[in-house]
Amino acid sequence: MNSSVLCSNVQVSSDAFIALGSNQGDRELNLLQAIGELGKLPRSRITLLSGFYDTEPVGGVVQESFLNAVLRMETGLSPQELLTELQRIETGIFRRKRELRWGPRSMDLDLLFYGDLILEGESLTLPHPRLHQRRFVLEPLAEIAPEFIHPVLGSTVISLLRALPPAERVTRI
Ligand code: ADP
Ligand code: MG
Repeated sequence: MNSSVLCSNVQVSSDAFIALGSNQGDRELNLLQAIGELGKLPRSRITLLSGFYDTEPVGGVVQESFLNAVLRMETGLSPQELLTELQRIETGIFRRKRELRWGPRSMDLDLLFYGDLILEGESLTLPHPRLHQRRFVLEPLAEIAPEFIHPVLGSTVISLLRALPPAERVTRI
């Protein structure tokens, strides 16, 4: 066997963290359905799932409260391939239309971390640029990955959570 054959057989996979959020329709069913869809992605498997959190909306738009969760996925998809799959689930399965930014949605899927990759692309920024300001992300993330180090800020998830000023309500259901 030559080395190129060996290389092509090597399965490279990364740990990606994905945030899920819904505030329209049956929120709990929506999260469960999205988790099912994520579990079906090629070359991927879900390895950790947080509890579900009822959270007050942020961003100024008056709307229903959200149900949020975070999961960890081991994946052989590239970051861009994974984002494309997340958007396909948002629009294809949940018929989400991209209207109001930070407005109501049946499903929002954000890529929080892809290993410790740092990226600033046109359609994809990693780590997610607002995750460290959002209690509704940090609470569930701290449940499954408290010691994970934010590759840009150099802080653990749990210390980012502790540094947040008390603001919107986040309750584990
Ligand atoms: P938000 O999640 O901030 O409420 P959207 O879900 O409408 O807003 O996403 C807006 C855009 O953010 C998407 O078109 C996507 O290309 C871009 N984006 C950049 N980085 C990320 C990321 N890490 N995860 C998800 N979307 C991202
Ligand atoms: Mg989003």
